[in-house]
Amino acid sequence: MKKTDSFGSTKLSTSKKTLFLDRDGVININHGYVHTPEKFEFIEGIFDLCRTAQQKGYQIIIVTNQSGIARKYYNNLTFKQLSKWLTRQFWQQGIKIKQILHCPHHPKFTHSCCCRKPRVGMIIKAQKRFHIDLAKSIMVGDTLSDMKCAQTAKIKTRILFNESMQSSSQHVQENFIRPRFHTYQQVDKLSSIKPFL
Ligand SMILES: [Mg+2]
Ligand SMILES: [Zn+2]
Repeated sequence: MKKTDSFGSTKLSTSKKTLFLDRDGVININHGYVHTPEKFEFIEGIFDLCRTAQQKGYQIIIVTNQSGIARKYYNNLTFKQLSKWLTRQFWQQGIKIKQILHCPHHPKFTHSCCCRKPRVGMIIKAQKRFHIDLAKSIMVGDTLSDMKCAQTAKIKTRILFNESMQSSSQHVQENFIRPRFHTYQQVDKLSSIKPFL
């Protein structure tokens, strides 16, 4: 369908709302540098959340930092194979993953880049490729870096998920220092995200 914008030109009205998902810590339990199906443990509620999002007209895109590649714990091919497997797992649950975007860099091991979250490179790339309406989109992540990225990219709804908010682990502690300039919702269950869709 074509429509005319206020400048009188025609454009394709393809702008689509998107559910952006971080991978480790949102889709699968973050065991650290997961790169095989054997280590891939799905977090409860992820399929249900994605199905609901899909029914409400969201497309689903995964944006994930994979510094394990920069660290040479695994390579791009291994990552791609796991992604293919992952896409299939979702497909078998009736869910279409539109794309998986990853950043293989880390400033200490490669060079700095514009795709590693909190930078917005992956979001911008997806936005251009799939004509995403970021103002109607959602980002679910488990770190402040995800939230910062979403905020910079002007993604409307930003949700920090952490099922182990009680945990005293260093990682969790660090991620729950909440600077005032960050605005996001915090949930401890993936099912709690559904009302935001
Ligand atoms: Mg994560
Ligand atoms: Zn990168």
